[in-house]
Amino acid sequence: MSSILSTYGRFPLTLVQGQGTRVQDDQGRSYLDFCSGIAVCSLGHSPKVLVDAISQQAATLIHCCNLYHIPQQEELARCIVEEHVKLPGKVFFSNSGAESNDGLIKSARRFGHARPQADGTPRYEVVSFLKSFHGRTLGGINATGQDKVKEGFDPMLPGFRHVPFNDLEALEAAIQSSTAAILLEPIQGEGGVHVATPEFLRGVKALCEKHDLLLLLDEVQTGFGRCGDPMAWREIVPELAPDGISWAKGLGGGFPIGAFWLSDRLIDGDQPLSSLMGPGSHGTTYGGSPLACAAALAVLREIQTLNLIENVRAREAQIRETVASWNHPLITDVRGVGLLLGIGLDTTKMQVPEGKLPAIYLSAELISHGLLAPPAGPETLRLLPPLNVSEDEVAEALEIVRTTLDSLKN
Ligand SMILES: *Cc1c(COP(=O)(O)O)cnc(C)c1O
Repeated sequence: MSSILSTYGRFPLTLVQGQGTRVQDDQGRSYLDFCSGIAVCSLGHSPKVLVDAISQQAATLIHCCNLYHIPQQEELARCIVEEHVKLPGKVFFSNSGAESNDGLIKSARRFGHARPQADGTPRYEVVSFLKSFHGRTLGGINATGQDKVKEGFDPMLPGFRHVPFNDLEALEAAIQSSTAAILLEPIQGEGGVHVATPEFLRGVKALCEKHDLLLLLDEVQTGFGRCGDPMAWREIVPELAPDGISWAKGLGGGFPIGAFWLSDRLIDGDQPLSSLMGPGSHGTTYGGSPLACAAALAVLREIQTLNLIENVRAREAQIRETVASWNHPLITDVRGVGLLLGIGLDTTKMQVPEGKLPAIYLSAELISHGLLAPPAGPETLRLLPPLNVSEDEVAEALEIVRTTLDSLKN
């Protein structure tokens, strides 16, 4: 009998060790890991640069709290702003994706106070999208456009509204005088791997300008190379200039760290947006510790040093070409960008035991054939290998997917 709250339905697998793209379970069996701890282990398991950075920093100073200056935090923030976002702004470090989104939502409310409605009432509403996922905190589940994360937790907070993704008309119709921000994932991950179209992203930006709204991007799953460019939005609309961005997952390569960025763009005379989150407005005990920041710095530097953007693009092309060459009856399409890819399943042609969701059943079957790959929604298999996955590992993993799908044809 476990003493752990049963919030997760877990696959019957216990991992005890990992190196690169391979992990071993407690029975000594080996697996190719195309889950990467859900897009977290960007450099694979226990990469030397990360192990070294964590060991050295742990032996020097693990934690000191945000009452004092933290040089690793300064360096990581500068690296993120200057080398990755490449737009003037400021960063706050948290410990997770949901926390980072809470920070963006709080920033939207500050903005709504600074630039209120005509009658002086603060604006506060955040519009987000159906099938989105923004985390499991109260702020996160309110922003998330899926009922399953909200069940039994009502009343929901005021100030959230959801509209269909990639639907500009519905979005414009949802904007009211109380609206302060639009929050979206450039590529919806958990919700089934749905990519924002360039027209949609450009349209969202235009609506934000027209109605004086913040454009907030949740790059928790997509950020820092997972989709090629460190900023996934640049893969879709290179010139898009967001007002806020949240990250976590791949940033620490497995060490827990999250962050959000606010633009320095002027919102009122000479007041930068980022200054709205001033002293006392937000805080965290753990966030941005020397250890977490040293880990993330090592990850970002290694992604640059190895030029993993190129590998991500090459492996995406390999996956798309290989899967297309199968013409597999169970596969409807391949969606996504870079190494955040979803294989759509034609579940009507698949043998699935009563009561099982097709994508979860497929994930379980893949495990027994030596491959870890998580579902995304009920009818999509997600491929999230490390950014440094090799051509041979991709070929091996895809062969497992193909033979497993063959065995599930009805
Ligand atoms: C995983 C995820 C989150 C939540 O991150 P946590 O670290 O689990 O809190 C938020 N947004 C997106 C897009 C995610 O994929």
